[in-house]
Amino acid sequence: MKNIKDFSLEDLKQEMLSIGEKTFRAEQIFKWLYVDKVKSFDEMTNLSLDLREKLKENYSICNYKILKKLESVDGTKKYLFDILDGNAIESVLMEYHYGKSICVSSQVGCKMGCKFCASTGIPFIRNLSSGEIVEQILAVEQDTGEKISNVVFMGIGEPLDNYDNVIKAIRIINNQKGLNIGARHISISTSGIVPRIYDLAKENIQCTLSVSLHASNDETRSSMMPVNNRYNIEELLKACKEYIKITNKRISFEYALAKDNNDNLEDAKELVKLLKGMLCHVNLIPINKIENGKFTKSSNENIIKFRDYLNDHGIVATIRRELGSDIDAACGQLRRKNLDRNV
Ligand code: SF4
Repeated sequence: MKNIKDFSLEDLKQEMLSIGEKTFRAEQIFKWLYVDKVKSFDEMTNLSLDLREKLKENYSICNYKILKKLESVDGTKKYLFDILDGNAIESVLMEYHYGKSICVSSQVGCKMGCKFCASTGIPFIRNLSSGEIVEQILAVEQDTGEKISNVVFMGIGEPLDNYDNVIKAIRIINNQKGLNIGARHISISTSGIVPRIYDLAKENIQCTLSVSLHASNDETRSSMMPVNNRYNIEELLKACKEYIKITNKRISFEYALAKDNNDNLEDAKELVKLLKGMLCHVNLIPINKIENGKFTKSSNENIIKFRDYLNDHGIVATIRRELGSDIDAACGQLRRKNLDRNV
């Protein structure tokens, strides 16, 4: 059965035509799903009974079940969802002064193998469909009763490795008749899939691009992120510069500081050389320790020194606030624990 949430509004209009219905039905269904947030076709009371029956016979409405929910003292909420095929994914809701931000997963597992990530070492299962990505936002809004204002693709999975579904999900999230979250409030984070960065530049979507850089030379980056063996720093930054040229948008470089690995002054100097003159921002992340992970967090003193060096040398850098550190905040940890329990 097709998941009704996999359709963008334009696709749903075509789908309605294909089953002998008028296109305005698509707008009605979209409103029920994303404005009224109903969980069944029976609740779509301005559709005829006949149409509701037809929809029930041919389409499903994916509604996630919450397997686990953890709440941090800082208000962060972490969800483990049963996605109805025996698999589970994570989403995290964070509170900022500007509103509620959700970190969504784009795949069940991840192929990228970043050495600091809890999803590494667990087999990749599959891509999430666009509807399954969007459902994370709906499920959290339904659970909390609160409107989400920002979406970041930084959960389990490499969003640009599930490119088409992620772009379609963004079109549903961004559509004024859908979830109506402005593109400027949507951020995609990539480990650096270079060809897709060029594609994304041409999509004409005003979302923010975050690139996980995490090192200032190929040797260190390859030891942390195997993707660097395929697309090295030079190729990655060339793609980023092209992205900036086409979109005129600033890129955010993520840099997770790990003790004695990439956090000394020499690294900061190299980083300044790499990024000098680029329209960018560096987001420094105190690395989250994962079980069996080889990296440990830099000292606060080092993190501040690193930030100050970048700022003093013309690279805007900030330190990301640690949220949910009391509830397995690192991406993939909750799913990993759940899998460990079930083996
Ligand atoms: S950090 Fe992101 S891209 Fe890297 S393995 Fe984890 S989920 Fe995949």
